[in-house]
Amino acid sequence: HPRISARVRRIKPSPSSAAADRATALKRQGRNIVSLVVGEPDFDTPANIRAAALKAMDKGATRYTMLPGSVDLREAIAAKLKRENNLVYSPSDIIVTNGCKSGIYSALEATIEAGDEVIIPAPYWVSYPDMVIACEGIPKIVACPESQGFKISPEQLKAAITNKTRWLIINSPSNPTGASYSAAEYRKLADILARHPHVLVMTDDIYEHIRFDGRTTPHLLNAAPELADRVLAVNGVSKTYAMTGWRIGWIAGPSDLIGALNTLLSQAAGNACSISQAAAVEALNGDQSFVTESVAIYRTRRDRMLTRINQIEGLTCLPPDGAFYLYVNCAGLIGRKTPAGAHLETDGDVAMYLLESVGVAVVQGSAYGLSPYFRISIAASLDVLDDGINRIARAVSELR
Ligand code: PLP
Repeated sequence: HPRISARVRRIKPSPSSAAADRATALKRQGRNIVSLVVGEPDFDTPANIRAAALKAMDKGATRYTMLPGSVDLREAIAAKLKRENNLVYSPSDIIVTNGCKSGIYSALEATIEAGDEVIIPAPYWVSYPDMVIACEGIPKIVACPESQGFKISPEQLKAAITNKTRWLIINSPSNPTGASYSAAEYRKLADILARHPHVLVMTDDIYEHIRFDGRTTPHLLNAAPELADRVLAVNGVSKTYAMTGWRIGWIAGPSDLIGALNTLLSQAAGNACSISQAAAVEALNGDQSFVTESVAIYRTRRDRMLTRINQIEGLTCLPPDGAFYLYVNCAGLIGRKTPAGAHLETDGDVAMYLLESVGVAVVQGSAYGLSPYFRISIAASLDVLDDGINRIARAVSELR
């Protein structure tokens, strides 16, 4: 049989990496490309956090830590969950993982039997469905149109649940739409979940601090504390503290699930990087001004880009509550003709047209499970964003 397992042959590489690779390849050919693809802060990790890493290295934090993470870090996470989210977890209810991405994958691996279903509201973060497939589960994609704010309704949740449902995955604020659930919306979803005790819920809270209305992001468990025994709360330092390369995420949850993750990761991975863990302690316990300052910058960019996009005929965009993306509706471009005479039939065609005609790289909505859209990342300077949107406006004006 083939050397590569069927499990892995079924999954596809991340479409956002593919888009980034295409942009890089064109750049290497000498083309002037504006890439609005990447999903990582364009800021450096704050100095106090970098200093904490250096100090930790010098003090010998270069060895294995406890498997679920150092006590210092798990205490800092427990304190953060209490202080910022009003959620009570002890350090033993928490496991630190090598980024939140691998934490999510491990949690699925630890719980999914072949054929189990995972409810994923679309638009979704590109990795969820393929992770489920890699675990031999079945992604149950629920299309959540713009008319409902890109969020799953209680009726849709009810209709999607079967006796094979293992997980519901919630990502708020969302990549790619920036949509976030209110406490009242969570309460209604929880009322449906109450009738289906076999359904577990994974909350991907990685963008909780990046939001534009000055409010704190509610957590499902604030609205429905009775679900604590079946919720895994996933988070990390990547986006909030511009620490994507440090690879620190964590999961808080009920002891049987956290215990299973401990067992799995003790054999499959080991602890997350000791130096990064020390840096993450400083991120959580230290000065938080970077968070406020960077969010203010994202907000300026988001407001400016939103205005410009909505002025372009054929494009519209809902204001995102948070995260650092704009999910642009390009239905008005579908069916139109390029100067070269091709018809734009899909959002993939639109993304390719923008790249080829004006050198702007974006990711097509089909990658996120809801078309016709494309995603723009605002994790880039205003100069880059202005250049990008001017080019997009020009490309659209040349359509017939
Ligand atoms: N979850 C979502 C929704 C994301 O957009 C990302 C990063 O793109 C991650 C998780 C991964 O975070 P980490 O860097 O902690 O693995």
